[in-house]
Amino acid sequence: MQSIPVDGIVVVTSPQELVGMIVEKAVKMAGLLNVPIVGIVENLSYFECPDCGKKHYLFGESHLEEIAEENHIPETARIPIQPKLSAAVDAGLIELYEGPWLDQLTASLLKDVED
Ligand SMILES: [Zn+2]
Repeated sequence: MQSIPVDGIVVVTSPQELVGMIVEKAVKMAGLLNVPIVGIVENLSYFECPDCGKKHYLFGESHLEEIAEENHIPETARIPIQPKLSAAVDAGLIELYEGPWLDQLTASLLKDVED
């Protein structure tokens, strides 16, 4: 972070309880370097069950919005556990994978660039 010019940071987390602490560390470091944290992405957030259609929070209920609000992070996103996503990564084709989960975050970042 000190050797590359950075306009903003997107923190990627997982749903565990410890994540709050990890985010706070990232926020402190970003503050020292005067770089804003523009978003937080929760990976492995939930599993959308093909049988019952419900979202199952395998790692426990997330505190993403809470953590974002406490740390004044404007955008949040959740990426589910998704076998097709892992398969795309394994095949080296992740760039071609279409998923809606980061659309709002990327739209917000693009808007900032245009402003
Ligand atoms: Zn189910």
